[in-house]
Amino acid sequence: MDSLVKGLIRNGNIRVYGVDSSLTSKKICKDHEATPVVSDALSRLISVGAMMAGMLKDGRLTLKIEGNGPIKILYVDASSNGNIRGFVGNPFVDLPLNSQNKLDVGKAVGNLGVLTVTKKQNLKQDFVGDVILTSGEIGDDFSYYFYMSEQTPSIVLVGAIIDVNYEVKLSGGMILQLLPGSSEDDLVFAEDFAKTTPSILQLFEKYNNILDVIKNVFPDIEILSETPIKFSCDCTKERFINGIATLDEKEINSMIEENHGCEVRCDFCNHVYNLSEDDLKKSLEIKHKKGE
Ligand SMILES: [Zn+2]
Repeated sequence: MDSLVKGLIRNGNIRVYGVDSSLTSKKICKDHEATPVVSDALSRLISVGAMMAGMLKDGRLTLKIEGNGPIKILYVDASSNGNIRGFVGNPFVDLPLNSQNKLDVGKAVGNLGVLTVTKKQNLKQDFVGDVILTSGEIGDDFSYYFYMSEQTPSIVLVGAIIDVNYEVKLSGGMILQLLPGSSEDDLVFAEDFAKTTPSILQLFEKYNNILDVIKNVFPDIEILSETPIKFSCDCTKERFINGIATLDEKEINSMIEENHGCEVRCDFCNHVYNLSEDDLKKSLEIKHKKGE
């Protein structure tokens, strides 16, 4: 079972988030028939999404990376209750390994582009923060995001291992966040941790679960919580009926008159909805009500 662990180290000066998203990432990448390099990229974003959703009291957030690489867009939607879904612009990208003999996530995503975080919290106005990409490797890009957009110095480490069957074998990550009141020593500690932990996944392979990883890496940790995370898509036919209402009236009419309905597929879970003539007429009604 995938889970998210939260804790405090160094007398409460650094907050630690650790996530094992292996099963969730495996399912999402498989559903999208993603190649190894795309699976690595999407799994990394899923891990960041799970940890950042864990930072919200109540609500959901979306992470979007639009780079100049062939993947084009990576998107993850995560809730504070542990539900996660995601999609990718081009799941079929295939590139040679990079100079370190690793999947070239940076090249697949691109190092020119924008990372956007949107947080939807109950009763509050949406928060939108964006930064330019620094490497396209995702972990570094989010470290930069936290520093620039949320003024919270953070170390973001994420990674995935893809097996010979092109499936996600392991996916996870950690975020270390310096809290107000932390010292120069705490910052050095966090930076050293990032340097001496070349791949977060080596730790995952060594221990059985994320709680054990965290406890072994940080013997002084005070565990605050461990919560499950999982894939979940909350798409409904009603949402698609509402979505179609934003299309051109001519287009909706032609779907009614020529095709007597339409088929729509959810980008996140691949579920196919067959909308009838009546469903499309509902879309038109909604459109007229809104006066569009
Ligand atoms: Zn769906």
